[in-house]
Amino acid sequence: MSDEKTTESLEAKLASVREWLNAAQNVMVITGAGVSAESGVPTFRTTDGLWRQFNPMEYATPEAFHQDPVKVWKWYDARRQGIVAAQPNPAHLMLARLEEQGKQVFIVTQNVDDLHERAGSKMVVHLHGSIWRLRCERDGNIVENREAPLSEMPPTCFCGEVMRPDIVWFGEELPWRPLQQIDEYLMEGVGGQGSGRIDVCLIIGTEASFGYIIELAVHAREHGAKLVDINPRLTDLGRMADVQLAGKAGELLPRIVNRE
Ligand code: NAD
Repeated sequence: MSDEKTTESLEAKLASVREWLNAAQNVMVITGAGVSAESGVPTFRTTDGLWRQFNPMEYATPEAFHQDPVKVWKWYDARRQGIVAAQPNPAHLMLARLEEQGKQVFIVTQNVDDLHERAGSKMVVHLHGSIWRLRCERDGNIVENREAPLSEMPPTCFCGEVMRPDIVWFGEELPWRPLQQIDEYLMEGVGGQGSGRIDVCLIIGTEASFGYIIELAVHAREHGAKLVDINPRLTDLGRMADVQLAGKAGELLPRIVNRE
């Protein structure tokens, strides 16, 4: 990032982003764990993150699950109970507000919670799956299950097999359906109503440690988008952004979204 960009005051940056968003018709949003942090849902890699307390190899790999499904399920059950008790924060609510204002808002989230949907956002793609879906590895059956706590531990499919969380674990491929939805959006906009042009791309609360996320942001910029990163930490993607807003999403989003 140039010196000019880093020294620009927060107020001036907020004013630019507010103007871009006001004028925007197509907004792509990429979110990570940080967007839900102020709702009390823990992040992963930050100092108080889940992967500092728990070894991901023991909870978020197919091997760990096959070795001890009850241990893995108890961990996810505790997370499900935390998420069900959490409420959308002002960041989720402001993104839904943008859509209410008639803008085409397409959210790609790495989060497995449903706080964007509960805030009212309609077009949300979950790249890493959903904590509310269970999948049978034997017959591919996927069911939605919102019990928290789960009534059956571990949950089983009607075929008798233990079901797993429908979440992308370490070492696994990204699922084809969200990738296809993103491709369609990039070509045609939301619901085929656009040209694929993106006016603003908001990147919120992610370390952007996955190459795919960086590629998506680069694609947006190549298609005309202003890149805006919102994160208390300066990440690699934040360095690439047109504007990096250093701070909490729940505090900054209400300052860039027109609330009239
Ligand atoms: P992350 O924990 O790596 O990063 C969170 C980011 O949010 C950090 O950059 C942090 O500075 C920022 N942040 C914290 N509070 C914020 C706030 N109030 N406002 C704005 N930003 C804030 O999470 P990520 O970037 O979403 O990375 C994806 C994660 O998904 C990976 O860490 C990976 O381990 C995880 N993952 C988990 C599973 C699973 O649960 N099994 C599966 C796949 C991927």
